[in-house]
Amino acid sequence: MKYRNFGKTGWGISELSIGVLRLEEALEAPDEKKRLERVEAIRFAIDRGVNYVNLGYPSYFRDRQKACEYVNEALDREYRSKVKVAVNLPVRGLITREDLDNALDSQMRLFNIEKADFCIIDNVRSDSRDILKSLDIASWASSVIDKGKIGYIGLGFHDDAHYLKDIIDICPQWEVIHIELSIPDYLHHPGVGALTFTQEQNIAVIATDITKAGRLTASSRKNVREVQSAAREKMSPEERCIRWALSFSGIASAQMSVQAEFNSVKQIEKYLSYTEGFAPQDVGIWEMLDAARLREAYFANRASPCKACYCCMPCPYGIDAPRIIELINDESMFPDTGIPEFQYNFENHQNKVCTECGSCNKLCLKRYQPQRIVLEAYERYANKRMNK
Ligand code: SF4
Ligand code: SF4
Repeated sequence: MKYRNFGKTGWGISELSIGVLRLEEALEAPDEKKRLERVEAIRFAIDRGVNYVNLGYPSYFRDRQKACEYVNEALDREYRSKVKVAVNLPVRGLITREDLDNALDSQMRLFNIEKADFCIIDNVRSDSRDILKSLDIASWASSVIDKGKIGYIGLGFHDDAHYLKDIIDICPQWEVIHIELSIPDYLHHPGVGALTFTQEQNIAVIATDITKAGRLTASSRKNVREVQSAAREKMSPEERCIRWALSFSGIASAQMSVQAEFNSVKQIEKYLSYTEGFAPQDVGIWEMLDAARLREAYFANRASPCKACYCCMPCPYGIDAPRIIELINDESMFPDTGIPEFQYNFENHQNKVCTECGSCNKLCLKRYQPQRIVLEAYERYANKRMNK
């Protein structure tokens, strides 16, 4: 295992890290065999040098306590001492400092930990700025660090890269940022645009979703398969994803999902073999062009060319049209549609009804008709809920 600099902390993080209790796990039926395999897989990865575990989102699961059991089993005393762990507090729903304290305490109880090495304020977007300011997140971070409850604070960011500076300026203690980064999301929310700024600030970056929860390595649509077979640099989709992510020297670690990628010893060995002897400069121009062609193939299947610029907001009725279009695009690009459907319901988009006022259509300079997609999504997901 190779290690990369972890920002200002002076610590070295393993090039591959682990993410547990992610959305893709919440979609599975309980399975004792898989549970045991995951305990074994996490321990195997740690034995092979993985030293960072993102503890994920117990809130995705109906029975949070139960969901955390296999993680706690894998990270018993011996294994816990070999890794740093990160708990996540989604910014949505945090209104007061008491909410922050309660959310952190609840995560620490679920994982039986007395100290979280990292606390990630997650799902941060440009519109989180005011709430982060009103929470005075910087002084809260100082107080919980001083009390020894957390080691460092970080954020999970999902928005255009140009909003990042505003968010970073709110809290000088940010040490790490989690961003979704994959071949299709090269420039999307925030994409590689975030890397220049984070490198200037010496903030460590962990790339998550490099295979989009396994959707880039599972069966794909015909036009994508054609581009894969015509690629100049031949390799499996898994290897392409991992090499592409690690080709950016601004990435400290690529997070592997215990459901999608690191789900067994065999899978871990496979991913480790891709990174053995690998250096960022090994990804040459032809491999980058292959990735660009793949991206175009995925984009050709999108329902809308919307870039989620948010110029059509705000909706007078509180509907997040760009996010809904993002989910619909996800559904149209990948055969596995379970994830966007879950997110649509989890994020409560179905509770807001579009009045067809037309405001978003007028505000979109590209005339992408967000209203139409909002209405289609409402109907589509409402039908799916009824069919269950
Ligand atoms: S619909 Fe248009 S204005 Fe709205 S986010 Fe998409 S591109 Fe931007
Ligand atoms: S058309 Fe619907 S989504 Fe668009 S602004 Fe009006 S209510 Fe909101």
